[in-house]
Amino acid sequence: MRRICGLPVALLLLLACSVAGAGEKLKALIIDGQNNHNWQATTPLLKQALEESGRFTVEVATTAPKGKDLSDFKPDFAKYAVVVSNYNGDLWPEETRKRFVDYIKGGGGLVVVHAANNAFTGWREYNDMIGLGWRGPEFGERVTLSEAGKVERTPKGQGPGAGHGPQHEFPIIVRDAEHPITADLPKAWLHYKDELYHGQRGPAPQDMHILATAFSASDKGGTGSHEPMLWVIPYGKGRVFTTVLGHSPEAMTCVGFIITLERGTEWAATGKVTLNKVPDDFPTADKIVRRNLGK
Ligand code: ZN
Repeated sequence: MRRICGLPVALLLLLACSVAGAGEKLKALIIDGQNNHNWQATTPLLKQALEESGRFTVEVATTAPKGKDLSDFKPDFAKYAVVVSNYNGDLWPEETRKRFVDYIKGGGGLVVVHAANNAFTGWREYNDMIGLGWRGPEFGERVTLSEAGKVERTPKGQGPGAGHGPQHEFPIIVRDAEHPITADLPKAWLHYKDELYHGQRGPAPQDMHILATAFSASDKGGTGSHEPMLWVIPYGKGRVFTTVLGHSPEAMTCVGFIITLERGTEWAATGKVTLNKVPDDFPTADKIVRRNLGK
């Protein structure tokens, strides 16, 4: 029998498998390179958060700067279990867009972080994937939840379009305690100072499912509605998770942002969440908790 350090190889393999827990790490690809936000600062934090979950290996694909030729931007999406978009910029080349749509339709995963939902206004398939984006009222419906959790649709052309008031701290309200991404999280948890997106517009397909909202208070420049913060949409055989949280590097250090990013990325990749233990440092209804990302 082959032995390494006195242990049979078979036993070592068994140990290795049990350490890996849910099996092989999932390959994630973060896309950046253009954004009206500081992607140079935020991509390393997204990468670190995903890697520290122990569930992912992470690569980054960076496009040419805004206004430059993107014809070389052709990531091999099929190599990855999930794509995380930290991109809000010029339209990708047609061939890349087609391969991206085919990849998600064929069972791939997409995670849309904050301003990535501002991207690609004129790309129909992308709008179908994100459901709601940073668009004007004429673009499509708006979706909010009532206090009790009932889905409310505001017709195209009526009500506010996309915006946000000044950054502030606000509670995130979990609206589906059964979904793997939000299961067992506190019903309400206080998020670090961030932009509270409101009035998002889009095709908002019926199978769009809102997992968490935040109340957009009028005295904070908001709408007086419970606005969607985290949501999921099936797309073909694939899955899309959107978090509109994470304007700044500081907002991304909120443990609530980190845990929902990790879980949402795993869910987009596989349809399941094994990262289901709620960490001891998760924020509570009245206490913000941040981690030392970037340190
Ligand atoms: Zn922002």
